[in-house]
Amino acid sequence: MAPLTAPDITAARRLVVKIGSALLVDRASGLRTEWLAGLAADVAQVKARGADVVLVSSGSIALGRKVLGLPDGALPLEQAQAAAAVGQIRLARAYEEVLSPHGITTGQVLVTLEDTEDRRRYLNSRATMETLLALGVVPIVNENDTVATDEIRFGDNDRLAAQIAVTVGADQLILLSDVDGFYSANPKEDPTAVRFDLVEQITPQIEAMAGGPISGLSKGGMKTKLMAAKTAVAGGCAMAIMEGSPPRPLTALAQGANRTWFIPQADPQVARKRWIAAMKPRGEVTVDAGAVAALRGGKSLLPAGVTQVAGQFGRGDPVAILGPAAEVLGKGLIRYTAAEARAIAGHRSAEIEGILGYPGRAALVHRDDMVV
Ligand code: GLU
Repeated sequence: MAPLTAPDITAARRLVVKIGSALLVDRASGLRTEWLAGLAADVAQVKARGADVVLVSSGSIALGRKVLGLPDGALPLEQAQAAAAVGQIRLARAYEEVLSPHGITTGQVLVTLEDTEDRRRYLNSRATMETLLALGVVPIVNENDTVATDEIRFGDNDRLAAQIAVTVGADQLILLSDVDGFYSANPKEDPTAVRFDLVEQITPQIEAMAGGPISGLSKGGMKTKLMAAKTAVAGGCAMAIMEGSPPRPLTALAQGANRTWFIPQADPQVARKRWIAAMKPRGEVTVDAGAVAALRGGKSLLPAGVTQVAGQFGRGDPVAILGPAAEVLGKGLIRYTAAEARAIAGHRSAEIEGILGYPGRAALVHRDDMVV
């Protein structure tokens, strides 16, 4: 096997950067605008190289609580939700203000845990993010804290950022944090703790080093960072933890700042195909010879090529794709329910609206969501 080397941030194709509240918001003076301007300059540089950038930013609650004059310490859920409502609008505006001088358009994306767990909503957020990125926009993502209650929340943006990175097929995720990497023990308590440069596999030993379960108060401890790393690398995305406070953090990373990289075994496309291949199909779609040729040529599956639909499934569910002789061709996530798929089978994509009464997506199974 080739020796492992750290990913090069200047070679990133699609980069997700997670910004923690403590970097962005100072308890006394509020938003750290100077630091944010430095980050914006870094983002502009990455974009100028042709890479896509997604920012996952915390800070809505921290900002909102300052504006509302709420006390330090843990807030009751309702107050945290109110603080998020007040803070998020300021947070989004702050990013807009620092990025627009670079000619960069920003968009606000607020997600909940369900948006990534439910397949239909997952495909929706994936499509929206893809469109934003194709338009050159830098999405500013946060959890929708105002509506997410405790049982249905991510609660920490480390795991949210990893989920977003996998959703958009990013190749690199950078967690800008208050620690400069992953250590063999808590460096604040254990002077013998050493920082890892690269982690190739998240073994049980590595997991044990992250310490016990996080308490209700501490968000984004090492444990959640390691969970984030697992999600990211399983999705084919490399993840770095670094100290985010330098004035130009991404430049600092490119210049060799301390960090820990978690290395994936496969690239995002391969990992996504494996993920789909491992799913249990909930239905079957039989296609004609023309469609077989199109699919083998790397095309999406259009309703026109479908001769039969079997099973009960919802939008975003995995289905098996069968050829004319009922041979298994592959598997994919279908963009229509079983009833809709039956109605539009054999029809041209332009007829979809007339049949269903609403415009749908042209493909039944998009090529990115398919293994053949
Ligand atoms: N979504 C929360 C906020 O914006 C932060 C969660 C976290 O810090 O991980 O305030």
